[in-house]
Amino acid sequence: MANQLPSALKNVEELKEKFRVKKPLLFLDFDGTLAPIVEKHEDAAISEEMRDLVKQLSQVHPTAVVSGRGMKDVSQRVNLPELYYAGSHGFEISGPRNFIKENDEAQKVLPIFDKIEPILKEKLQDIKGVDFERKKFTLAIHYRQVDESRAPEVHNRVSEILKDYPELLKADGKKVIEIRPAIDWHKGKAVEFLKLQLGEKDQNFSVYIGDDVTDEDAFKYIDDGLGILVGDHGNKTYADYSLEDLDEVKEFFKLLLKN
Ligand SMILES: [Mg+2]
Repeated sequence: MANQLPSALKNVEELKEKFRVKKPLLFLDFDGTLAPIVEKHEDAAISEEMRDLVKQLSQVHPTAVVSGRGMKDVSQRVNLPELYYAGSHGFEISGPRNFIKENDEAQKVLPIFDKIEPILKEKLQDIKGVDFERKKFTLAIHYRQVDESRAPEVHNRVSEILKDYPELLKADGKKVIEIRPAIDWHKGKAVEFLKLQLGEKDQNFSVYIGDDVTDEDAFKYIDDGLGILVGDHGNKTYADYSLEDLDEVKEFFKLLLKN
């Protein structure tokens, strides 16, 4: 199912015109936007070409990478120390010159993650292909390699356990369940926070590019910005434009860099 959004590529001149009026801040999701989605989340990698494009872009526009991955994980994969990184959906943020910001409320929930991780592992151990990824402020349960027919079981069992832990909530991504602190904080709020770090007053026009349902928080929440959806996640979208795939993302970056 293709989304009905206008193409960012076809409208790039109009966008560049906007960028001339107000300087943009760029917010880029990682998986599915800068790096191809892979079977095993640990194999995800950004291409040299994409890295170089992001590097060039960041020299023109302040740029941050916003990801569901842990902050360390995503910053190591992108490997451009001059950028800002919002990891774990924004619960942890890092930037150049040793900038670090962690969500204080989320800190308090950390011991509960330690508690439920072994419980969930035990409850799901008989389902083949379930893969746990513990990030600082999120526990991800990947089920890309689980037989399609058993996916609802994974969801049900996780929901069942989480009933006893109101401090946590379950969010769904592409073949992944993300257990996060039940705090009103998401990629959109992380972006608003980063805008204050990256931007100058009244220059807070932001461009957010992402592919997943969790990126909708950013599309929806951002004031004075514009959202670009990569591909399609099958749900309602609040983005303004679309790019079909990573090749189009690269093409779009190249056009933005062209004078
Ligand atoms: Mg993504």
